[in-house]
Amino acid sequence: MDCIFCQIVDCKIPSDIVYQDEEVIAFRDINPVAPAHLLIIPKKHIPSLTHLAEAETPLIGHMVKVANQLARKEGIAESGYRLVINSGEQGGQLVPHLHMHLLGGRRLSDAIG
Ligand code: AMP
Repeated sequence: MDCIFCQIVDCKIPSDIVYQDEEVIAFRDINPVAPAHLLIIPKKHIPSLTHLAEAETPLIGHMVKVANQLARKEGIAESGYRLVINSGEQGGQLVPHLHMHLLGGRRLSDAIG
């Protein structure tokens, strides 16, 4: 499997991992666009939101829970943060392994798209 995020999950390439459990891992984005920029990903290879099976939807809730915990750890829970999941080409997804961005630490753009 040449998926770069699967290689991070398998520790085949280095990353700055800040959290992991049985279902997800979180690590710092290699090209941060905000002072706090973490990625929360499922360990299982799911290419995008579109590929999420109905039975897998609780995974998204778990990813949000982990993101909220990490926001507190990063000290941005009170100042505010943004969770983003890009899906597919026109949704701006570059890495085809489901991931949630946690962004904060500065005033983010008001623009959504
Ligand atoms: P997206 O456009 O939603 O697919 O975002 C993919 C994100 O993955 C980008 O913000 C990249 O900077 C980030 N990224 C790509 N490769 C790595 C890597 N090896 N370690 C950490 N972050 C990465």
